Amino acid sequence: KHHLPPDRMPKESDMELVATDTVRLRVPSGSTAVLVKNLYLSCDPYMRSRMTKHDEPSYVPDFVPGTPISSHGVGKVLDSGHPDFKVGDYVWGMTGWEEYSLITSTEHLIKINHTDVPLSYYIGILGMPGLTAYAGFYEICSPKKGEYVFISAASGAVGQLVGQFAKLMGCYVVGSAGSDEKVNLLKNKLGFHEAFNYKKEPDLNKALKRCFPEGIDIYFENVGGAMLDAVLANMRLNGRIAVCGMISQYNLGKHDGVHNLLALIAKCIRMQGFLVSNYYKCYREFEEKVVQYMKEGKIVYIEDIAEGLENAPSALTGLFAGRNVGKQLIVVARE
Ligand code: NDP
Repeated sequence: KHHLPPDRMPKESDMELVATDTVRLRVPSGSTAVLVKNLYLSCDPYMRSRMTKHDEPSYVPDFVPGTPISSHGVGKVLDSGHPDFKVGDYVWGMTGWEEYSLITSTEHLIKINHTDVPLSYYIGILGMPGLTAYAGFYEICSPKKGEYVFISAASGAVGQLVGQFAKLMGCYVVGSAGSDEKVNLLKNKLGFHEAFNYKKEPDLNKALKRCFPEGIDIYFENVGGAMLDAVLANMRLNGRIAVCGMISQYNLGKHDGVHNLLALIAKCIRMQGFLVSNYYKCYREFEEKVVQYMKEGKIVYIEDIAEGLENAPSALTGLFAGRNVGKQLIVVARE
């Protein structure tokens, strides 16, 4: 409905559901647009930044009040002016939080090749969060067998996959999460060697020392703030930190100071941020590898499914309260 100040949590009342009868059910002639029926929509933490108006252009455009929110989604093609997409195809890419979307910017629209897996996976394990985990772990972390790996927000869309990739590589894997239910899933469903509830253990340094008596080689950073500081104090020589996200900072406006950065020098640590958008060239390679892992039973994926657009605002705001258990998505329609 309106832009948010940078220093507060988003609320459900910042969004509204509007009925409209202006749906255009055909692609205008001569256009290369694609008309889709939206099936699944994604809730992602970066969407918080789009809710605030920025003076400088960001890597993703700000939302425009009064127009539909946009995010990644899975849809079925109802009409197409584009040679790569045919009626009846399933596709994933940027779409609107609405029942039907006319997608005019098809540059990043991807045809779904594997329709024998749940289609919702294309906004999770086989979509943007999956590619983030893949590129972040294999490209940025330079992992080696036997290394000690720590992941924050470990049960989420990205984290649960990073942990499973690290396990497959033969690493020792520990995750943090914000509830006992999530810790239980990490240890008993996702195969992490160890996990802890950071809300119950405010002494993060102590928790990390217990889990990593010999220190951490790789930190996959999803939360920032106090966790980053505690990790810096527990990194090993030549460690790597992949800065994927810092969700603890997204609603603060002014960011927390980090105090232990000197560890980067003494321990020769490489700390590197990355954007998934720079890795779409690896998408088909990633998709085939992960589909194979899934079919071999080597990887599982946990989703948190909200039913209907009317529940979308609560699903999105829930990310920042840790209400989601696994990848948060919204079902608009199943067929
Ligand atoms: P998740 O599915 O992990 O959902 C967000 C989770 O973050 C919550 O469930 C909660 O889990 C945790 N969280 C929320 N607030 C806080 C807080 N104040 N302190 C600590 N933890 C918090 O999200 P994703 O897996 O989709 O995203 C994970 C990270 O990756 C985010 O930071 C996101 O911005 C980033 N990202 C970066 C990309 C890139 O290209 N660099 C692409 C995609 C994602 P819990 O209960 O455990 O606290």
